[in-house]
Amino acid sequence: LKTFETIEQCRKELSCIDGSVGLIPTMGSIHKGHLNLVRASKIENTTSIVTLFVNPSQFGRNEDFDQYPRDIDQDMVLLENEGIDILFAPKVREIYPLGFSTFVDIGDLSKKYEGLYRPEHFRGVSTIVTKLLSIFRPNRAYFGQKDAQQCAVIKKLNDDLNLGSEIIIVPTARDQFGMALSSRNIYLSELQKKSANHINLILFRAKKLYHSKNMKSCDLINFISKSLPIDINIEYVSIVNRETFATMNIPDVNSLIIVAVNIGSVRLIDNVSLS
Ligand code: AMP
Repeated sequence: LKTFETIEQCRKELSCIDGSVGLIPTMGSIHKGHLNLVRASKIENTTSIVTLFVNPSQFGRNEDFDQYPRDIDQDMVLLENEGIDILFAPKVREIYPLGFSTFVDIGDLSKKYEGLYRPEHFRGVSTIVTKLLSIFRPNRAYFGQKDAQQCAVIKKLNDDLNLGSEIIIVPTARDQFGMALSSRNIYLSELQKKSANHINLILFRAKKLYHSKNMKSCDLINFISKSLPIDINIEYVSIVNRETFATMNIPDVNSLIIVAVNIGSVRLIDNVSLS
């Protein structure tokens, strides 16, 4: 595993690489969800590059940037075991040097759902992903379905700005109870985890109801809202088109059920596809 902190080192290394390049952007604290992206890239590319950067511009003022779990030594062991070729782990000043002032704003899609609750979030995500796709020019870049709106945002900026990578979406990795894996799950107590396990169970029940009873969105949303345990505070639950995130009154196979909740002070998101 070659580890680089600067863009210049990466560019030098890239100039010596033949064959296809797969890029896996992460904020580290590597778990099995990240490793599924890594494995997908390893199958499809000659060289696989992981980036590890806790991106300050995608965290709101009151969010957990300072507390976000970081363990680069452990991450390096996991990535080395997977046979990752290159790790890019820059310092903040490498990505945002003094005087940095250009941000990517993709418009409407970034203003709804996650964007409403986390107003700066997608501007930060769009900017860092645009920078990484520009630096590495990968043939393919890998993102997780767990962050469904992020996937839609990244596909859109890649198309709109002609960045030219193929954006590959990898299914959500879940634990044995179905909970979507996330670096933030370590914030949950055992009791909160038990509640969190209901989220995915209920989303999949709603999907079954859609297929067996052809239920409309409002009925499915009612079902989900009533079924979640009372210690789960719902921020939103909705049924949307997977690309535009337009609200769907009548769901179809291109729809996703999306949910964001708070359990105590921990915010979780999840989604299931109705296809
Ligand atoms: P993060 O480090 O949380 O920014 O995640 C880096 C990438 O891994 C993003 O594309 C995420 O969508 C993806 N990812 C995170 N958790 C999962 C999961 N449970 N299953 C699949 N992909 C995931």
